[in-house]
Amino acid sequence: RELNDEELLAKKRVLILLNPVSGKRTGLKIFHAHVEQFLNDAGVEFELFVTQRANHARERLHDEDLDKWDGLLFMSGDGLLNEGVNGLLSREDATVAIQKPYGIIPCGSGNAIVGAILHYSHEDYSPLNAAFVFTKGLYSFCLHPMDVGLCIQGERKTYFCLVVNWGFSGDVDIESEVFRKIGEFRFILGAIWRVVDRRIYRADISYLPYDEIPDVAKGIGSGNENSIPGNVEPEVTISLPNNSGVENNLNSESPSPKPIEPSSWIDLPGPFTNVLLTLSPMLSHELFCAPSHKFGCGYFTLVNIPYTNVSRMQVLQMVDSFKEDNLANFVRLTFTKVKAFRFTPIYPPKGYIVVDGEVVPYETCSAEITGHKMFITSL
Ligand code: ADP
Ligand code: MG
Repeated sequence: RELNDEELLAKKRVLILLNPVSGKRTGLKIFHAHVEQFLNDAGVEFELFVTQRANHARERLHDEDLDKWDGLLFMSGDGLLNEGVNGLLSREDATVAIQKPYGIIPCGSGNAIVGAILHYSHEDYSPLNAAFVFTKGLYSFCLHPMDVGLCIQGERKTYFCLVVNWGFSGDVDIESEVFRKIGEFRFILGAIWRVVDRRIYRADISYLPYDEIPDVAKGIGSGNENSIPGNVEPEVTISLPNNSGVENNLNSESPSPKPIEPSSWIDLPGPFTNVLLTLSPMLSHELFCAPSHKFGCGYFTLVNIPYTNVSRMQVLQMVDSFKEDNLANFVRLTFTKVKAFRFTPIYPPKGYIVVDGEVVPYETCSAEITGHKMFITSL
């Protein structure tokens, strides 16, 4: 939309949250080399907050006076953003807080969200371009909605904005951590190793398919890419069965819940090579996992790579084709739109469930789409 003079001249104030140990530990260097001068030239006022420990950013955002800031800028991988999401959603004003526009400068070893934003903005993948996209989006109020998922394990609730990973990709992500100094290339090395030393994965998995119900099921913000999100309440509430089989409303923050009648749960038969529950089309700036998934579409894409009748060679080819958006050519690979998911790992007895790149307990987990939308700045 046309901006008036006041809006064009208004200074923007940004809180930068920087994880100094992300990826190759070059966050501060990247800040001084590519971001600081750029923000100064663009007239952006900022405070640089360098985290001293895990959960530091989460605590800061839990307590922060957000009215002081026009936007949040994460200089990190996806992990610090995940902390931010959980910090914002733990506030009393969670519904409004989560809508604060944000951006990411890639500094981590896993930078899926900013990688996807740059890819779809047709910008090369670099910290400077990420700073450009963030600043331009902030000034032009160009904000792209993104969904927030909730992963529940007993009392433990983790919000996430990227992916739940189990099997091949989860193991690659975590077992390659020792190589984090080499950046995203660690995933390629890890993947080759996991193909050679192939594993079978077994779990009880079921999901609630997403019904194409317009408006209600899509929640707020959809198609609202060029305007500032208003102060609106999330509308979507999904009921998951709890262990007693009694419906359990998990979205207690919504003041007037409008439950969607659950369609039946469907079992996903195993064994598996890989299961991903994603909110993003991409796993890194060059790896697609669900090419037709759109940010903010209001559902998860459940990606299933089965074990049976999939050879090592095919796994290798699939890993290779994750680099292009032609994954649909692999007939054994399935993509399902789901609104909720339930998962109990069986084999291996010990392993990794990975939520936004971070390990959560290896036990039953449920995930659902919340009605919350986040807003990333884009071109
Ligand atoms: P990477 O992409 O390299 O994994 P992330 O930004 O995802 O980088 O962060 C990885 C982990 O580092 C996250 O779990 C985050 O909570 C944690 N973390 C954040 N700040 C610090 C810090 N100052 N020291 C140690 N760990 C931190
Ligand atoms: Mg990470």
